[in-house]
Amino acid sequence: PNARSLTLQSNGTVTALQMHFGEHKMEEVEECQENIKNLLNPCLLCQKRPRDGNIVHGRSAHLVACFKCAKMLKKRRLPCPVCKKQIQMVIRIFMG
Ligand SMILES: [Zn+2]
Ligand SMILES: [Zn+2]
Repeated sequence: PNARSLTLQSNGTVTALQMHFGEHKMEEVEECQENIKNLLNPCLLCQKRPRDGNIVHGRSAHLVACFKCAKMLKKRRLPCPVCKKQIQMVIRIFMG
C-alpha cells in the first residue's frame, strides 16, 4: 500500500472511535436521568410510601422500596426485588 491509502485508513479509524465514544456518553446521561426519575416514584411494593429504605447487598444497593417494605423483605429473608441478590442490610435514607 502507498502512503495516501494509509492516511485514509487512519482517518477512518479515528472518526469511528469518536462516534462510538459520543454514543456511549449519551447513553450514560440517559441512564442517570432515568435513575432520578425512578427516585421520585413511590415504593415498588406498596406504591404508597416514598423510597427511603435502601436495600444493601455487598458494595451496592437498590433504592426501590420504602423503609417498612425493605425491612419486611429482610425479615422474611427474601432477595432484592430488582437483582435477586441476598439482602445484607436495610438502611433508612434521609434526603439532605
Ligand atoms: Zn413500601
Ligand atoms: Zn439489588
